[in-house]
This record gives sequence, C-alpha cells and structure tokens, in this order.
Amino acid sequence: ATLTSKTTKDLYPDWKAGEPVPYAALCTTFSKIEMTTKRLEILAHCSLFLRQVMRLTPADLLPTVMLMINKLAADYAGIELGIGESLIMKAISESTGRTLQHIKSDQQEIGDLGLVAAKSRSKQPTMFKPKPLTVAGVHKGLMAIATTTEGQGAQGRKVDGIKKLLSAADAHNAGKAVDIEENKGGASEAKFIVRTLEGKLRLGLAEKTVVVALAQAVKFHELSQKGKTPSTEDLAKAESTLKTVYSELPSYEVIVPAMLEHGLSNLRENCRLQPGVPLKPMLAKPTKSITEVLDRFEGKDFTCEYKYDGERAQIHYVAHDSTEEMATAAPAAGKSDRGVSNIFSRNSEDLSKKYPDILAKLPTWVKQGTKSFVLDCETVAWDVVEKKVLPFQQLMTRKRKDVKVEDVKVKVCVFAFDILYLNGEALVTKSFRERREALVDAFIPVEGEFALAKFGNTNELEEIQILLEDSVKEGCEGLMVKMLDGPESYYEPSKRSQNWLKVKKDYLAGVGDSLDLVVLGAYYGKGKRTSWYGAFLLACYNPNTEKYETVCNIGTGFSEAILEQFHKQLSDIVIDRPKPFYTHSAGNKDQPDVWFEPRYVWEVKTADLTLSPRYKAAASEVSGGGKGVSLRFPRFIKERDDKKPDQASTAKLIAEMYQRQESVGKNKGPSVDDDF
Ligand code: ATP
Repeated sequence: ATLTSKTTKDLYPDWKAGEPVPYAALCTTFSKIEMTTKRLEILAHCSLFLRQVMRLTPADLLPTVMLMINKLAADYAGIELGIGESLIMKAISESTGRTLQHIKSDQQEIGDLGLVAAKSRSKQPTMFKPKPLTVAGVHKGLMAIATTTEGQGAQGRKVDGIKKLLSAADAHNAGKAVDIEENKGGASEAKFIVRTLEGKLRLGLAEKTVVVALAQAVKFHELSQKGKTPSTEDLAKAESTLKTVYSELPSYEVIVPAMLEHGLSNLRENCRLQPGVPLKPMLAKPTKSITEVLDRFEGKDFTCEYKYDGERAQIHYVAHDSTEEMATAAPAAGKSDRGVSNIFSRNSEDLSKKYPDILAKLPTWVKQGTKSFVLDCETVAWDVVEKKVLPFQQLMTRKRKDVKVEDVKVKVCVFAFDILYLNGEALVTKSFRERREALVDAFIPVEGEFALAKFGNTNELEEIQILLEDSVKEGCEGLMVKMLDGPESYYEPSKRSQNWLKVKKDYLAGVGDSLDLVVLGAYYGKGKRTSWYGAFLLACYNPNTEKYETVCNIGTGFSEAILEQFHKQLSDIVIDRPKPFYTHSAGNKDQPDVWFEPRYVWEVKTADLTLSPRYKAAASEVSGGGKGVSLRFPRFIKERDDKKPDQASTAKLIAEMYQRQESVGKNKGPSVDDDF
C-alpha cells in the first residue's frame, strides 16, 4: 500500500517527459520485482512503472506492456521467442569478444545465461559509449529476431540481431565489473535481454498481474488529471473492465491504443469481441463419473453433448459484402478489406493454411442473412464411405501447412458446439440455450461437412449413461455436460469452468483425465534401443513459479518408429545442464543422461498417482516440498503439438487429482519410484 501511494517522480530521474522509455528504467523495475516474492509488491512495482509511462511517454505504453508480459505480439500473430541456447551463446561470444569456450564454461558454472551475458558484457573494454537502449527499440529489435525465420542464413541474421541488442546493452555501466552474486537481482539489461530471448523472464510476474497493474495505472493517471486519486472500488472496477475486455479481445495491440484514445471507462463500448481476433477458448473440468456430474449440477438444467475427438477450431467469418464496421485489429492472416475468414486453434494459432477446404465451403453452410460469426467447433476426420467420424490419429496425418484443397486426402467434418458472435453482436453473455438457438437458426448442416454437435437435454442418470454409450459407439470420446441457463451458462473465455464438465469413457476406470507433460530429459535405451533414447523425464508446469516440476520417467507406449523420430527431434535441443527453472530431485541416480530445452508436450495416461521423493510435481502443495506427486505406470499416448510447454498440465491440477484420488481412497498401491 505504501508503494502505491508513493509518487512516481523519482523512479527513474533520467527519463524526461516525451522521451522514449529507457530500457534501463524498465530493467530497474524488473530487478525490483525479481528481489521480492510478495505478489502485492510485484503488482505495485509494475503499476508504478506503468503510471510513469502514462505520465511521461504514453506512446510507449504498448511496447512496455508487451515486454512485461514477455510477448512480442498477440498469440495469433504466431511470433515467438524461445531462441535456443546455442544461438544466444554464439551471440554473446561474438558481441563481447569472449570465446565460445569461455561462455560455455561460465554457463556450466553459473547456470543462468542472462547472468553469463551480464558478466561477459562487463568484462568488455569499450571504446565509445553506445546509445542507450529504449523499450520501443528493444521491442523492435526482438521482433526482427523473432520474425527472421525464412531463407538462407536466417540463423546468422538472428545472431546478428542479438549481437546488436547486446552491444548496446548496459551503456551506462559498460566496462564496470559485474559481481555475479550481486547481479542475480540486478538491473543488467544484457541479463533481461537474454532471458527475454529465452522466453522466460523468471520474475514471478504473471500476465494477470500485468493486466491488473495496467488497469490501476491507467485509472490513477486518468483521475490524477482531474486532481483526484482512485478509491479501492474505482480500482476494482477498472481491473474488472480490463479483464473482461481482454478475455473477449485478447490483443493489447487493439486494447492499449483504444484505452489511450477513449479512456478506460469507455473501453467496453469501444473494444468488443471482433472477428479476426481469436478468444482463448473456454475449457472444461474433468469428472470421474456421471454421479459426480449430477452432484455438481443438482437442480439445474443442463445438456449433454457428444465430445468429438478431433482438433478444436474457432472459426471467424465476415462476409465479403458485409457492411459491418471492422475495428482496427492487428491483421490476422485471412483479413482483408473484403471480410474475414480464419480458423484458429486452441492456442490461437492460425490454422487457415491447414484447412483451406473448410474455408472454401464456409459460405455455403450459412443461411441467408448470416453475415458474420465466430463459431466454437471441433474438426474431426470423416470417413466418406462409411459416413462416420474417424479417430483423432487420422486427423493428425493431415499436413499442417500449405495444404491445397485438391490434395486433401483426409476429409474433415466440422462439428459446431457454440457460437460467440453473430451478425455484429457478441453472444458470450447470452445463455447457452439462446446461443444454441442462434446456432440452429443461422446455419444449414451438410452431411460430412458441417454439423451441430449431437446432444440430449436430460437430468436422468440412466439416460445420460445411454447417451455416453451412444457417443462412444459413434466414435466420440464421451460427453461434455454444460449448464443451459442464466449467467452460469455464459461463455467464459480462457476459463476452465465449473459449468462445463467432461465425462470421458475411460474416466470410468483409472485416474481420469490424461496429462499433458513436457519432455525435459532422456535416458539412452537398453538392448535394441541403445542408439535412441529409451525413456524420458517428464514434467508439469507451475505457472506461479514459472518452473517445470518433474513428475515421472516414461518408457512405455512408444513404437520403434516414434522413438527414432523423437531421437531426431530431441537431439536438436540438447542442453548441457538443466535450466534453472527445472525442479527435480538432486539425487545422483535420478539424473537423466541428457537434458533438453522445454519444447515438446506429450499426452500421457497413468494408472494412478503416488508420492515420491524422486520427483517434484506439486511438492509444495502435497508434502511441504519433500515429495512430489508422480505417475505410476505412465504410458505415452501422443504428441500434443497444439500445446506449448507452458500450457502443459499444471502442478495445481496434479495436486488436485492426487488429493481427489486420496479422498476417494481408491487405487492405493505400494509406492513405486521406478517406472521403467
Ligand atoms: P482441455 O482442452 O480441457 O485442456 P484437452 O485439450 O486434453 O483438455 P479434452 O480433455 O479432450 O481436451 O477436452 C476438451 C476438448 O474437447 C475441447 O477443447 C474441444 O476441443 C473438444 N470437444 C469436443 N466436443 C466438444 C463439445 N461438444 N463441447 C466442447 N468441447 C468439445
């Protein structure tokens, strides 16, 4: 509280009104954030900084926010950081004139490439003082690095881009020695540039905190111009406005300029869901049985939909002849003056190049008068002869990019289950019953191309059981059970909601849901598998600490062909030692033969969960830190290339699954540490 009431004047004295935000000023704030673990302090530092940006250089608010959340653009733009260690080391070496050998041995010793960069930079003699970095300049430089992907010499150009930033870093104290211990929390620009490039700032600064800080800062600024300070209610209202707007329109590129132009109080009128900007999808909670569904939804009307086994697809469309006013969204791939036509994945990636066949047919599925919409759907592989859905594996054989309509071998049928926007109006705050009616009214099903998800509205145990069995017979995974009426049935973007429950056929035995885990390490195989990896170390993700926590070794469920393929993929991302944001047992015998960058996510099934000192998943939640939750008899199901590592199953989810299993008292077997 004391921090929030402090004036912002002295935060960074060298920065004058109207001047670009100095990157050093942002790094000073980063370093303050790094020095604390208290959420409120983190929030206060963040919001104070943004207030100063508002006061002095509002034009730089957008790049400042982007660097704080460690993203260069909205997710659907597909611009990613996460540059591999080897490129960064090369750039550090070349920009500071130290040998690669030195850099590598420092990395061995220090374990944080950011600090290695800071140290290397400080050892460098400087002839002249470089021009100081600005926030906007760093954002632009990073953007150039991230978007250099095509053509010959792309790697070299990336290294050049990194070198350019590093050579300008720490202009104010170039040549001064850096004490590594001291610099752990220090404001070195080189340190933060490298961490940003790695894709992890590791400040404990979650995106939700930045959103709250931004709302506060803007509110403070707006009221201060009228000579007032905001009350707690004003701040709460500002936060809730910004959160709602962001959940419908997750694009700071649109929101920040709109906020500066129209003010926070008028933001909702000026920024609503918009075709072309994908929303984060609503997600469901797993349940173990139909009786659990009945308990949770007791007394409410709900509906049971088939749960199709394909790929989530959010389809955005505005007809060419629509007169709808299109706002200033950052251009998604399919947007032109003449309308919008895009398919987005669960991750807001643009899948339009994967599904040109769907986009070509799209206009033929709408009734006259349907000019624009956003649909939530599942694309499922379709057997044209038997006229039925095919398993997910078939869909996976489709190419992901540059598909030509005439070459499509695996046909897909789109099963629509929700509509979020229709003819210029957002529907997310209408009841599901109304949304479903709108869906029925606006579209025409075409066999094998477009259908509405099958459903039954019933509260009877036996009838739900029959629906579940029927869904499975028809090639589905089970049911999605959804609330029908009132605010509980509104579409909740990006939430794993209590109001959507999934009942999978295979929940009915075993632990329930499968888990999506990140591959952190591997062990060389034995016997036939000696030239490949035979087993792997997997981890879940803890978004609160931004760490990966190990959860099991896995050696089951892989074909020889898959092992060969994984060996190829993973060999490219081997690193010398675990990243500082990996949490694993320190025991000698527990270490894998090789470590990897966090990149691949695999879906894994397990018989049940147990506690083990060897792994660290959810350890602080379940055992005060000593033992983590681990999977017993894990089995590989498939690669999840639609998920990024930080979208893996969370430590919290694993803790919940473990606690639920314990309270049910089932599946208690002897504790097994060795899984392969
Ligand atoms: P989650 O998306 O919940 O993290 P996941 O990606 O592993 O988990 P599932 O557990 O299989 O997916 O369940 C949710 C997914 O089911 C949705 O993301 C969607 O792709 C799919 N789905 C299929 N049919 C429906 C339906 N009728 N309603 C909602 N989602 C459906």
